[in-house]
Amino acid sequence: MNENRNKIIVKTSFLILLLLMPVYAQSIGSNIYKLSIADAAHHLADVSVEFHDIKSQTFVVKLPVWRTGRYEILDLPANIRKFKAYDAKGRPLQWQKINKNSWQITSNGANSIEVHYQIYANRLRDRVSHIDSTHAFLDASGVFIYNEEQRQKSLEVRLQVPTAWHSVSGLKSLAKDTFWAANYDQLVDSPIESGLHSLRTFTVEEQQYQILVWGDGNYDMDVLQSDISKLHHQAKFIWKSFPFSNYVFMYHAGNMLRGATEHVNSTIIQTDHFGFYPRKKYHKLISVTSHEFVHTWNVKAYRPAGISPYDYDKENYSDLFWMAEGTSSYYDKLLAARAGIFTIEEFLDDLAEDILEYSHKPGRKVMSLAESSYNTWLANNKSRTHNATVSIYLKGSLVSWLLDQQIRELSNNNKNLDDLSYLLYKNFAQSAQGYSSADVRQLLRELTGHDFTEFWQDYVEGTKAIDFDRLLAYYGLKIEEDTAADEEEEHIAFGWELQEENGLLKIAVIDADGSAWHAGLAQDDLLVAINGFQVNDDNIDKVLENLQANNTYSLSYFNQGQLKTTKIQAVQAPPAKLNIVAVDKISRKQQNHFESWLKHRFSK
Ligand SMILES: [Zn+2]
Repeated sequence: MNENRNKIIVKTSFLILLLLMPVYAQSIGSNIYKLSIADAAHHLADVSVEFHDIKSQTFVVKLPVWRTGRYEILDLPANIRKFKAYDAKGRPLQWQKINKNSWQITSNGANSIEVHYQIYANRLRDRVSHIDSTHAFLDASGVFIYNEEQRQKSLEVRLQVPTAWHSVSGLKSLAKDTFWAANYDQLVDSPIESGLHSLRTFTVEEQQYQILVWGDGNYDMDVLQSDISKLHHQAKFIWKSFPFSNYVFMYHAGNMLRGATEHVNSTIIQTDHFGFYPRKKYHKLISVTSHEFVHTWNVKAYRPAGISPYDYDKENYSDLFWMAEGTSSYYDKLLAARAGIFTIEEFLDDLAEDILEYSHKPGRKVMSLAESSYNTWLANNKSRTHNATVSIYLKGSLVSWLLDQQIRELSNNNKNLDDLSYLLYKNFAQSAQGYSSADVRQLLRELTGHDFTEFWQDYVEGTKAIDFDRLLAYYGLKIEEDTAADEEEEHIAFGWELQEENGLLKIAVIDADGSAWHAGLAQDDLLVAINGFQVNDDNIDKVLENLQANNTYSLSYFNQGQLKTTKIQAVQAPPAKLNIVAVDKISRKQQNHFESWLKHRFSK
């Protein structure tokens, strides 16, 4: 054999070996997850998982009962069927279910176990799993089982999907349709989207970003790329560094889809096909995009105690979910405004809308943010939520805004919420335990030299009213009622929200302490007649137009199928819209506060 040729062969083999090494090295000892689509039309896939280094006689595999980013028990194990377990030689192993999300396998001394099962992936709107002929969206919490003792072990995911599909995830890609995760926690926080997509890859400074859209939609990739690049710079301004080198923005554009979930270095955002345009819709979408991106630091990099590390078997409690969600809600708009994605007017309109919505909720006097944080795992109906709870998002965002202003005021405008956020990132990004309320108050003391116990008691653990006039005045702003908007709305109110049902008007939400409440009406009552006139969806506006505030009227309605009549008082309708505008005479100080807050010049 020609010696030169031999050398070439040796060199080539060495090169091939070198190229294969990273994949091979990372896979040694890793648990191997394989998923192949069995019946796309009916959302079915076959999954097999190889577990190695098994040392015990019984081996328990589990599926989480909730998924990260959604604090609700979702009963994910209901999607598993045809469960089977084998040893390395393919001999079946005995197993039994020991609770709703755990399968106990008798290992018979086997060092490796292979588990097979079928997964039903049809939970698109829960952002858990969805398989059809165009894609597979896989959040591991609802798809891939794990073993608690091997949770920190590395693993590999190999997908068998149509060759035309491409697979994208925040996970490290080893080969086409193959990913590697350092451990199960990383896997559950890194959904995989495999299918036919629009994909854009770009870098901003050192970070690589991907925008992926599944489904048809009226999106403009250039606009998304441009705005995401702006968000990158605003996030860097606050947190100074990035806890990722690559990040994936996944969008699902589908019929009436909505909602989004944050993950470690990716997010899944769902919207309607036509949710990207016009401006009003895009405004909402980019707020959500910003919100999920903020979560990369706030909740993914640093987490409240109680949800760190995750317990996948049950609810994970914290009195700080309001900071995880509310502070992210405050920042989503603030980042967009600072970046120039929102105009200042749009930003202030959003704030005014939040103030109005919050002021209309009777629940603000009933429940504290800390209690609502704990209760985030409990569901209430719409009316009960309105009357007896506060939103960790809405009130959480407003209290974050107040906290920001308090830090500024007490530090002579030298410190603010950005500094607190940076310190939480710096001090707790590597913390296994997460941060507590006491930790936050300690940081606030360090930043301002002041004690925040009273603030906490009033606004976090208590239900003290927020003084929005004072808060706005700090920035040279004030609230004004939008009289033009009032003229377009009803001039009287009964304290209810109506909804059409089978031709009748149903009370969907009733204000605690409102007129309807005092008249004895309740949620789900069906209106029949007011002031002697039959009412329905078509004529209700006309009937109400002819009533006067402070007058009492007769009202007939069905309650539990029985016709009843009561007296009800019409009251003056609350403002339909608020505007936030500049104060008449702004001081130099107020102007400085405004400009350091929004990074824009103050203009009337
Ligand atoms: Zn969120």
